[in-house]
This record gives sequence, structure tokens and C-alpha cells, in this order.
Amino acid sequence: MRVKPNILISGTPGTGKTTLAQELANVTNLNFVSIGQIAKENELFCGYDDQLQCPILDEERVLDELEEQMSEGGNIVDYHGCEFFPQRWFDIVFVLRTDNTILHERLSQRGYNEMKLKNNIESEIFQIILDEARESYDEQIVHELESNTPENMEKNIEQIVVWVNQWSTPAD
Ligand code: ADP
Ligand code: MN
Repeated sequence: MRVKPNILISGTPGTGKTTLAQELANVTNLNFVSIGQIAKENELFCGYDDQLQCPILDEERVLDELEEQMSEGGNIVDYHGCEFFPQRWFDIVFVLRTDNTILHERLSQRGYNEMKLKNNIESEIFQIILDEARESYDEQIVHELESNTPENMEKNIEQIVVWVNQWSTPAD
């Protein structure tokens, strides 16, 4: 077993993954791992998705890039997808959820155009990522987290920190 856990923070764009994952990394001794950032830095893309209007990850190369670090444990991974990772990588999976109107507001502030907005809001309404997570991992390790307000964010961080600390406590 890994000495430190690997955590996946997933959810539709705009639900608060990066904010949560970075804050968690600040208050724990775990690494913040942004899949988008790593893909950009290493040019791990293989095309462009015209419908979702985002680059397409070269998944095989992303997995190769991360295998060693993930095997060591102690990572908080931030990505909007969750089904292409090996199941064995994660000890717990969180899927952030945000109400439509709030998500719409956040994504328009981000400058998304109508089509990109519509696709992402629909993805959230149909809980695409939650279903993906439930299909890809042991259901017991998949947790849905409400991410509408700063209070939600604070509570989510608190609860995950408790979980991380319990993991680190050696059993006697
Ligand atoms: P993601 O990484 O999932 O795309 P971000 O972490 O970039 O989302 O958050 C998108 C925007 O929403 C940011 O401006 C962030 O401050 C805000 N935000 C995220 N989560 C919450 C929350 N629980 N309450 C209020 N604002 C939030
Ligand atoms: Mn993000």
C-alpha cells in the first residue's frame, strides 16, 4: 500500500476543482497535480475537440508521464475527466457539483461562448462526470461534493483533510 494517498478531484469545468485541489495541497503535504498544466507543459495533446472547444489529451502519454509519481502516492489530481486513469491510481475520488445558475455565472465570467457554456452546463445537469466516476471506480470511494458557496468549499476542505490525516496515522 502507498504511504500517502492519491486523491482525484473531478467535476465539470467551473465546479471548483483547481481552487479545492490547490488549497488542499497547501494544507496537507500532498502534491497538486494539474493534468491540464502537465499536458500543456509537455505538449501532451493529440488534436482539438470542436464540440467541447478544448484540446484533446494524448491520454497514453499523460499516463506514461505520471505513472512513477502516482505509484509513489501523495498526489491530488485535478482533472475534469476521470475514466482514462488506471483505477489503481486513486484511493478516493471526489466529484464536485454546482447548481446550473451558479455554474453558468462562473463559466460566463471565464469568457466561454454560448456553445461551450451550453455543453458544459448540460454535462453538469446530466451528471456525466459523476456517472463516469461511478463506472470507473469502486463506488465506495466515489464521493459527490456540493460546490456552490465558499462555505461548501471550506467544509469540503475540512472533511478531506480529516480523511488524509486518518490515512497518515499509523495503526497500532
Ligand atoms: P475548475 O478548476 O473546476 O474549472 P475553479 O477552481 O477554477 O474551477 O473555479 C472556478 C471559479 O469558481 C473560480 O472563480 C472560483 O473562485 C469559483 N469557485 C469555485 N468553487 C467555489 C465555491 N465552492 N464557492 C464559490 N466560488 C467558487
Ligand atoms: Mn481548473
